[in-house]
Amino acid sequence: MSDLSAVKPGSLSPADLKPLPEVKTSTPEEVAQAVRAARSAQVTWGQTRQSEREKAMRAFARAMLERREEGMKVMCAETGRDPVENLMSDLVSAGDFAAAAIRASRKALATEPIPLSPINYPGKRAYIEAVPRGVIGIIAPWNYPVLNFLKGIFPALLGGNGLVLKPSEYTPRTGQWLAGLLQQVTPTGLVQVVTGGGSVGQALLESGIDGVVFTGSVPTGRKVAARAGELLIPCSAELGGKDAAIVLADCNLARTVAGIAQWGFHNAGQDCAAIERVYVEDAIAEPFVQRLAAFASKLRVAPGAPVSDFGPMQSTAQLAIVEQHVKEAVEKGAKVVAGGARTGPGLGFQATVLDHCTQQMKVVSEETFGPVLAVIRVKDAEEALRLANDSRYGLNGSVWTQDLARGEALARRMEVGIAQVNSHALVGILPEIPWTGTKETGAGVSNSRHAYPTFVRRRTVFIDKNKGPDPWWMPADESSKPFSEALARQQLGQTSALFQLLGLLGKRLKAIKSLAGG
Ligand code: NAD
Repeated sequence: MSDLSAVKPGSLSPADLKPLPEVKTSTPEEVAQAVRAARSAQVTWGQTRQSEREKAMRAFARAMLERREEGMKVMCAETGRDPVENLMSDLVSAGDFAAAAIRASRKALATEPIPLSPINYPGKRAYIEAVPRGVIGIIAPWNYPVLNFLKGIFPALLGGNGLVLKPSEYTPRTGQWLAGLLQQVTPTGLVQVVTGGGSVGQALLESGIDGVVFTGSVPTGRKVAARAGELLIPCSAELGGKDAAIVLADCNLARTVAGIAQWGFHNAGQDCAAIERVYVEDAIAEPFVQRLAAFASKLRVAPGAPVSDFGPMQSTAQLAIVEQHVKEAVEKGAKVVAGGARTGPGLGFQATVLDHCTQQMKVVSEETFGPVLAVIRVKDAEEALRLANDSRYGLNGSVWTQDLARGEALARRMEVGIAQVNSHALVGILPEIPWTGTKETGAGVSNSRHAYPTFVRRRTVFIDKNKGPDPWWMPADESSKPFSEALARQQLGQTSALFQLLGLLGKRLKAIKSLAGG
């Protein structure tokens, strides 16, 4: 392979290194114009009835499903993945996703009445309502060029906002395709797309957006969150991962091997929630590793005929990280029991299993983002838990066992945002469940009603229908102290205080009215 490090990101197909059509980089003025156009269309959209917004989002999901062949082709060209993999991961669930996202939005956007004590706050009522923030910017990575947008698109538009999408420089065409579908079902101008790399993401932040959804690496996430902090706009930052699976001796071996391979190798491990570390109890380590290695050795990397299991690395930079991690692990004593090498014609890397890994290896401590499973043999579940938690990241964690109660208890002790038993990361396509992490994975929450602070602000509405003044208003006089005392005692459950309050009420109102001239 010739030196591709100088090639413009996203200009070659990772599958066969053939050139892709040129995509223009948006200028700062074009980015600013996109935000202005979205803001102007948002004024009406923000007042549209909820049912109308839901209708538009259902139409969007329908368009994704109906035009899935077209979307799949765009994605295949940019990612090099197998068509079926693209379809399964990014498109095929669009209808269910929309239905669930709409259900979540109804909870998040519902007006909330606030109960107020009629004794302390007579004649008053209050409620909290959701108000669109304005224009939301979504800055996305390349690894799931549709899915990573959906978790922001639905709450942003259902919440009444305008939207500017900034796809990764590696997958701009998919972002444009997606924006095109949205533009057909929403008012003119409401949804915009800008293309280019980090400088375009920066320009978007500087263009007056009212909230940002960022998904990507930790270093970029820090910069985006810091700038959003300075701008005082909400920022949801969903960053890297280094997910661990704990395999207990009583697991269903065949299912566990298939499950770990699935969640470790799909999308070539280019998944923030890919299993990258496998802590396996000594008692089952030998047969587990043998079966996992045999499984991995049979997996095929796209482009393959007629079907392949996962695609190539997205970029030469990503491929270099994977190779470097494997090389370093081997130098430090890990054993390659499956894969370990590139596969052509593009940027493919074989499904790789490394046995006898340790916490000191990069393949265990840093995000590899490749089709590499690092197996760490441990003496028992407690050691597995301690080592699994010894990580900078905390997205998903899973325990594989037939003892569901024990598995659940152990999974809940993992320092992660999503704890699972006998499954891993599936909740990413279930928009009623929060997708969230801890530590350097970031504090962002996407999906579910818990994601909405990025998309709507809360407005409190407080209405006082009292015709007269409230008894605690100025001026203070000799009745003020006993009145406040009675208020306190009444909250302590002393019924005599209630009668005292009623007695003092007249005095207080008289004092206020005499000063106010009522
Ligand atoms: P990246 O940080 O390089 O880029 C992400 C996006 O940010 C791209 O659109 C990029 O153009 C833009 N960008 C770069 N510099 C910027 C800046 N200074 N200001 C604003 N925008 C800027 O990440 P990537 O390589 O595209 O994606 C891979 C990373 O994403 C991995 O670390 C992965 O774990 C993470 N990821 C996390 C989740 C999650 O839900 N936690 C999901 C998918 C991917």
